[in-house]
Amino acid sequence: MSDRLHGTDSAVGDLSDRAVEWIKQRLTNSPIGVIGDKPSLDAALAGSINDDGLGIDGAWERFEQVVAPNNIGLDSERFLAFIPLSPSVATVWMDAIVSAANFSAESWLEGAGAVAAENQVIELLCSAAGMPAGAAGCFMSGGSIGNLSALAVGRARAGDRRFVAVADTAHASVDNALHLLGLETLEVPTGPDCRLTGDSLRAAIGDRRDVGIIVASGGSTNAGVIDDLDGCADVAGEIDAWLHVDGAYGLATILLPELHARFVGLDRADSFIVDPHKWLFATAGSCALVYREPSLARQVHTQHGPYIDVLRTSDDAYNPCDLGYQLTRRASGLPIWFALALHGVDAHRAAIRHGIRLAADMADALEAHPLTELIMRPELGVVLFRRAGWGSDEWKAWANALLASRTAFVAPSTYKGEPVGRLVFMHPRTPDTIIDELMLSLST
Ligand SMILES: *Cc1c(COP(=O)(O)O)cnc(C)c1O
Repeated sequence: MSDRLHGTDSAVGDLSDRAVEWIKQRLTNSPIGVIGDKPSLDAALAGSINDDGLGIDGAWERFEQVVAPNNIGLDSERFLAFIPLSPSVATVWMDAIVSAANFSAESWLEGAGAVAAENQVIELLCSAAGMPAGAAGCFMSGGSIGNLSALAVGRARAGDRRFVAVADTAHASVDNALHLLGLETLEVPTGPDCRLTGDSLRAAIGDRRDVGIIVASGGSTNAGVIDDLDGCADVAGEIDAWLHVDGAYGLATILLPELHARFVGLDRADSFIVDPHKWLFATAGSCALVYREPSLARQVHTQHGPYIDVLRTSDDAYNPCDLGYQLTRRASGLPIWFALALHGVDAHRAAIRHGIRLAADMADALEAHPLTELIMRPELGVVLFRRAGWGSDEWKAWANALLASRTAFVAPSTYKGEPVGRLVFMHPRTPDTIIDELMLSLST
């Protein structure tokens, strides 16, 4: 037999033992990691692909010694930059199974079981958001694809109105999606609280008639601010615009009763997204995309062709690929479905609350210290702050020193153009003691 790739006699040696051991180690301790150096990585990996293969020892050694250590651990308890990833143990193992099974979750015909399970999560989110019966959605590979998919449907609804009202705090992927879709941005300035409001939208739109879509954030990425969704929904109603809520970072917090009031108005959105790989502790590559009325999404996204029309087994067949941009798709909602089924929603609520509480505690510490100044009280898990006398060079030096001492991985940011410190708390195992360590790093 010439096939060395498949089956029980495939030439992989003890790869399964090595893989399981590696995953267990990672789940025990995910290091902050290092920023890889291009010349040394290129040199160490040169020749790793040849005609005959390196065999298990050679290939594994390159993975274990070169590839794996030369990354930053977004899933580290001490990763406080960008938006962290902190996948739960259950999602990591279920993701491994998703890889093995390759459920083809683009269509009901191929992946009914996986799609039905994913839809349980979509239903949970729809019900928390107060979406009406008939709302539906699907999983995509991430927030950028989710935003693109939703805005493509918004474009169809907007007709020849080519402008999209977007806050100056919106995520970069929104701008990118609008560019790809050939739409124009009407940038709406936000005030000191970084919140998009109905009034700021009205002021920016004036009596223009070319605005057909409004994009709001359910937790902006830089400051973690939930926009005035109720006000945005009012304006969308007044001008008959499509309202999309980008909740990739923060919308999982709608599951917390104490934050529910902050999301009033979401029930009037035409579409929204949530990234379970952010604040629902799923593995990377997972976005839940929801439409209040999915029929227009089906018109926009359904792909046609001789070999694909067979996917439409019946009028009510539930095909994720009819609702978003991706066709072949791993069942990226299955890990979070499994974790929710295993642990329940309350365990996820408690895990989310840890990040919110740490952000509040960090804010208290910054307010109490004479050298630091909080820019705004954190609404979710992001803390923005000033340090007396520090500009962009000092912030960079601070980030480098924290990484060198293995205290934390942080990335400075800006607030209305001013270089500031930014910390994002999410990992449920980030220790409380990190607050004192960070305050010390800011006092010297
Ligand atoms: C992370 C993020 C995105 C992009 O999501 P990806 O999963 O990285 O593609 C979009 N919007 C917001 C608000 C985000 O925080």
